[in-house]
Amino acid sequence: MPIYVYKCPQCGTFETEQRITDPALESCPTCNRPVRRLIAGNVSVIYKGSGFHTTDYRSKEYKEKAKSESENKGDVKAAS
Ligand SMILES: [Zn+2]
Repeated sequence: MPIYVYKCPQCGTFETEQRITDPALESCPTCNRPVRRLIAGNVSVIYKGSGFHTTDYRSKEYKEKAKSESENKGDVKAAS
């Protein structure tokens, strides 16, 4: 079973084992305050997201560089 990490304002973070099909805990089993789930599995999603962003940024930068190079060639032609 996967281990989920929750954050309780009273008790701090705690881990609990749950089935994937189980609903997320809404309240702390210790003090019954509302808790927020810090899903450990999200780490890989965030990594994938930033990796995609980096790739996207590079390709945009490359396109703009290529575009400015072609514009510069045009300027040289116009000047001469
Ligand atoms: Zn608590």
